[in-house]
Amino acid sequence: MPRDIKDAFKNGTRSMTGSPGKKYWQNKAIYVINIETTPPSRIIKGDEKIVYFNYSPDTLNSIYIRLIQNQHLAVAPKEDGAELSNFTSGISVKKLSIDGKEIIWKDPLFNVTLKEITLEKPLLPNTSIGINCDWTYELTANGDREGMIDSTTFFFAYFFPRIAVYDDYIGWDKIRFEGRQEFYNDFSDFTLNVSVPKNYIVWSTGMLQNPNDVLEKKYVDRINESSISDSIIHIVSKEDLIEGNITKNSKYNTWKWQANNIVDVAFGISDHYVWDGTSISLDSARPRVLAQAAYNDTAWDFHFVAKVNRNTLDLFSKNAPGIAYPFPKMTIFQGYSDMEYPMMVNDNSYDTYREMEWTTFHEMAHTYFPFYMGINESRYAFMDEGWATFLEFELEKSVMPRDSAVDLFTSYRYKSYTKNKSAEVAMPISTPSNLLNGRAYSYNSYAKPSMAYLALKELLGDDLFKKSLQYFMVTWNGKHPVPYDFFNCINTASGKDLNWFWNSWFFSNNYVDLGLSAVKITANNYAISITNIGGFAVPINLRINYIDGTSEMVYRSPSTWRDQKKAEVIIANNKKIKKISLENEIFLDSDSSNNEWRQ
Ligand SMILES: [Zn+2]
Repeated sequence: MPRDIKDAFKNGTRSMTGSPGKKYWQNKAIYVINIETTPPSRIIKGDEKIVYFNYSPDTLNSIYIRLIQNQHLAVAPKEDGAELSNFTSGISVKKLSIDGKEIIWKDPLFNVTLKEITLEKPLLPNTSIGINCDWTYELTANGDREGMIDSTTFFFAYFFPRIAVYDDYIGWDKIRFEGRQEFYNDFSDFTLNVSVPKNYIVWSTGMLQNPNDVLEKKYVDRINESSISDSIIHIVSKEDLIEGNITKNSKYNTWKWQANNIVDVAFGISDHYVWDGTSISLDSARPRVLAQAAYNDTAWDFHFVAKVNRNTLDLFSKNAPGIAYPFPKMTIFQGYSDMEYPMMVNDNSYDTYREMEWTTFHEMAHTYFPFYMGINESRYAFMDEGWATFLEFELEKSVMPRDSAVDLFTSYRYKSYTKNKSAEVAMPISTPSNLLNGRAYSYNSYAKPSMAYLALKELLGDDLFKKSLQYFMVTWNGKHPVPYDFFNCINTASGKDLNWFWNSWFFSNNYVDLGLSAVKITANNYAISITNIGGFAVPINLRINYIDGTSEMVYRSPSTWRDQKKAEVIIANNKKIKKISLENEIFLDSDSSNNEWRQ
């Protein structure tokens, strides 16, 4: 455990039972944001009022503001590079005042996406400050996570200056945003007012507060119809777009959205996207959850997205993780990214139904990690992408036979990882994500941790695993867990000391490689020795083929490797064995040359 985390335990903000400590705190803000956009112009105007609450026991002498749009400046370091067409002039802060007093603004010169502002009057514990900010920025022409999709379809994310996280284990989160980081934000309340020319529709995080002000009655009725319907309602069809008169006939319409206790907001606008909607009852105590899709009618797969969206809400809520989808809505918007936001997803269009469905599963899984859980994704991506990858597989199994799901999932997620012998990829999963890049980042965030979670499931069994995972999720819902909180929660909920397992998977250079090291034959039995060469605590799936043409599978749980590197399986049934083979099942083996023995 690094010393800063140790201090958090010592200070009582975290506890070894896995629960937040008695002194746990987190800060929050209330944002009221106004955005004006007039496509095809890519100049976006914004202003906001922020009330920032300091619930920490510390006096803050300065605050840090994230200016993610400066990532598009030529001078900003870019982890994965960027095309020239992606560059912009960044964000230009026109005016900033704190508690009514104007601050002389100077753009940050070095770490351009983060700005420190020294407070004239320090912010004492349990007090708040008010910040007013006006800004403009140029929306990037090369839309990906955000930006221009086409000349009259825009997607907005990271679009407003926001207060960085001040937390109990690092203080101000100053990790540089270099293009790959996704989310580490306070749970805050957002009012978002988006002003667009008539004929533009807005889809956003949160609930629309004024449908009657911005849409003609026919379309408000269709939204209402979709909110009580199990089937897909075409809220706006291709024919409707041709006919026009969908939005109110004012020069500009302001779409008002509200979302509370959430880590971020994103939205999309278009004057030619169609709109599908349906809904589902997940829990009798609250309204039906809306499942929507907004897309270009030419995208064949998107015609099925609202249905898949609805089914995914159902599968997550009932099967895995088995916690009701926590928000009132989910909208999937056609773009170029395959990127999650709270209640919004920006997905590519795909050639096959399978790819569309798989991507929907993955991006919607992020609802739980990092949004329901408040994961610090820029430092602990394995607590976010690892779970989203795990949940993909859990859902794949509900739409196809297990064998097909295993084949597809392992060949897409694990095959290239198991063949990669590099030092970078061998770094422990617990390596802070901001220090990793390329394959080291992706395998340590997606492949390795999802395998660890699948191995944990085999170790605990389905029921205890589900109970333990849900315990962690409910305990840290709306808060900021670190990996040690996860380990401690699972230890507590399962009633087992799993530290050996966490060490095997999260703090080692292990990989997956089991080998058949020896087969001893005596008069009436076979003693099969299996060595764990790679070290990860994976299950053993041993296929025994007998001379008489019959075969059987022998299974051993990952607990086999708790305190040994070599295990023995005895087969004593007076049958002659022809062939013994180690099968991979989910856990693709790095070296198959030692996986078979023949008589
Ligand atoms: Zn993901």
